[in-house]
Amino acid sequence: MTSETKVVLATEISESDIVRKKIKSKKTINQLIIDINTEESELYIADDERRHIHISKHPTQISCFKCMDGRVHIPSITGTPIGLVKPYRAIGGKFKVFWPALRKRFHTWVELGLDSGKRSLAFVTYHCSASNPHLGCAGWNYQTDQAKAHITNFCEKLSHVYGYALTAIPTRVETDGDIITLHNGDKEVSGANLIGLTSEKAHLQIAEVFPRMENELIEDILPFMMGNAVRVAYLRDNPRDLSGLDHHERVIALGQGFDWLARQNFALIINDIDPNLDFAIETAAKIVKGNLKSASKNDVATLFTNIPYRKPGMEQREAEVAARELQEFAQDVIKERHPDLWKSGKLMFLIGVTFEPSKKLTVLDQGVVGA
Ligand SMILES: [Zn+2]
Repeated sequence: MTSETKVVLATEISESDIVRKKIKSKKTINQLIIDINTEESELYIADDERRHIHISKHPTQISCFKCMDGRVHIPSITGTPIGLVKPYRAIGGKFKVFWPALRKRFHTWVELGLDSGKRSLAFVTYHCSASNPHLGCAGWNYQTDQAKAHITNFCEKLSHVYGYALTAIPTRVETDGDIITLHNGDKEVSGANLIGLTSEKAHLQIAEVFPRMENELIEDILPFMMGNAVRVAYLRDNPRDLSGLDHHERVIALGQGFDWLARQNFALIINDIDPNLDFAIETAAKIVKGNLKSASKNDVATLFTNIPYRKPGMEQREAEVAARELQEFAQDVIKERHPDLWKSGKLMFLIGVTFEPSKKLTVLDQGVVGA
């Protein structure tokens, strides 16, 4: 597993470099997204067998609640294939159980798991930076303690609601070193703690922190934590330049199905489960507007709406209409609350749907906002 993981990590790192170079080469931002999708869709299809092998060995179905910040990307920081973890994203990861769309989607996901004899696990994350608080979570105004308190409380509520069917784990992601830390009250275990350990010893370390967790569940957490140990060790040997790690995002990604898009400092990702969607869009637009101010004058940003579908016909048509309407909604919000950005000519738009079995994006429309 170790050598396989290293290959994936090396690929991911070189692709991030490619993204940076392409941004510098002034390739149109929408074309860049389309090109990333082409590459990632091919990788996703190529990873199909690896995914099936993983799922056959590790039956627990896994989701991750996280901030809109693209740095929190479980496949990249654990060296696991895209598609194993179902992501939910909101500003600061400030999820609430009452959110109607989240309730419906998450409940359905847990129930579908139960119907096929699977238990569910959720990594409920907050993020921070060890080197500089301002590289932490803008959604919490860099107040990491508040973020941690919120997600701990959210975990308790999920556990209360779903009982045996779901294990929700408060999880920290430290984004300088990509370190995942799992909390259980005052105890914790991180990828950094597991560097160089055998699977058996790592299993024991996790069991020490989660004494009531079944062995099967620990075995299903293990590939993520062992993969994270490899990633953390890699970054210790090859430290990244932290000077460029503050917000540089140029993409507001709104809708669902963006696991192929997450790149360092590239996109702010908002799922349409947030009942305060207008506020989320307003906040993301504010961040992107600030990023454009500090960028070179030819730089542009884009508002990308995407909805995934699994079946042609009704589901596809619904996804297409929803992606277009979501774009209209978001543009209306930006026009009203950030009119300077709306009419700047620097905000592009891209509307698409993604075919889930291949992650292939179909572009429905694109252009310049306000034109
Ligand atoms: Zn954040």
